[in-house]
Amino acid sequence: MNRVYLDYNATTPVEPEVLDAMLPYFSGEFGNAASIHTPGQRARAAVEPAREQVAALIGARAQEIVFTSGGTESDNHAVFGVVRQAFLPVPSSNADSLPHIITTAIEHEAVLNACQALEKSGVRVTLLATNREGQIDLDELRRAVRPETVLITIMHANNELGTVQPLDEVGRIAKERDIYFHTDAVQSAGRVPIDVNKFGVDLLSLSAHKFYGPKGIGALYIRSGTRLRQLLYGGHHQRGFRPGTENVAGIVGLGKAAEIARKSLAADARRVSTLRDKLEQGLLARVPHARVNGGTASRAPNTTNLVFPGIEGEALLIALDLKGLACSTGAACSSGAVEPSHVLTAIGMPPEEARASLRFSLGRQTTEQEIDFALQVVPSAVEQLRELSPTYPKVAEAR
Ligand code: PLP
Repeated sequence: MNRVYLDYNATTPVEPEVLDAMLPYFSGEFGNAASIHTPGQRARAAVEPAREQVAALIGARAQEIVFTSGGTESDNHAVFGVVRQAFLPVPSSNADSLPHIITTAIEHEAVLNACQALEKSGVRVTLLATNREGQIDLDELRRAVRPETVLITIMHANNELGTVQPLDEVGRIAKERDIYFHTDAVQSAGRVPIDVNKFGVDLLSLSAHKFYGPKGIGALYIRSGTRLRQLLYGGHHQRGFRPGTENVAGIVGLGKAAEIARKSLAADARRVSTLRDKLEQGLLARVPHARVNGGTASRAPNTTNLVFPGIEGEALLIALDLKGLACSTGAACSSGAVEPSHVLTAIGMPPEEARASLRFSLGRQTTEQEIDFALQVVPSAVEQLRELSPTYPKVAEAR
């Protein structure tokens, strides 16, 4: 069967050049990068250039990059690290001085659930709302700042909608108020230009498997001078700040993927956004009542999220999978959950519309033929499901 993958926001395939760079470090060059003998030094010699490659992708310096196990760890490290450094132990007796975090209602669970865990120990959290397009209001951000605010954590590109937040303006606000600023750039790194100095971020999370590197490896950018409590305690790796034997092959893969992404970012974005627009326009033209969620905001070039009123997104996803097309109803980590996407409800969609939405995310390997295939199978699958739907006739009448 013809299989078409349009779920690159969930994960991407490892680029052959990345795999080639990694392979020697599984068995030939298997040394521990912390060992002082020659095999160890050879492993170390592979780790440090990767740090430079990652730094170059985001306009940072190599010493500001800490390797982690991926986006989730980087996000947790940033959120817990800032709060614990500033306020440990949390002064539970004095409610006025409880630390405060500002974030958004559309963050990935790696940030949202970290903030929620801190909230249980007394930390105050403000969740900024967004408009229908998934963008925050900068005045609301300014109003949310309190004397106790220690961290603003606002994602760059949203994983479900692709909407991109105005990070340079957020950075200016954070700087004016002397508050640390973290961004989850897991969906934008390698897809959208990033310059940590232009954005004024102090902390930034990225993950290799979203830009054609391996799973289970990522990085946290930490601006020099940022006061951050470490998350893990152990040996002396990465100056004791992020202990654990370094995943040398993974780090080499992350570095290579970052280098390729830096060189091909502009061309990839042009090609992929043309295909994304073709898919989007084609679906809007072929499927009655379909609409794009967050379509007029500034977006990552590869993502589109559409609502097909009158159907269940999960049922459509399964029908499309049976025809050979892989896409998503939202964050991969929450699929199987019956709850509608927290992102789509946060932008103000009613639950039945959020449940009737699908995300298509394209990538470097996506071809025009694949888009033509999607344009053929999606409209017919929606039509079939609508024929069985008790709610569709009402939806159609209402428009
Ligand atoms: N943040 C965002 C925006 C994501 O999309 C993801 C993964 O889907 C993560 C964080 C978690 O990254 P990882 O899978 O590397 O833990």
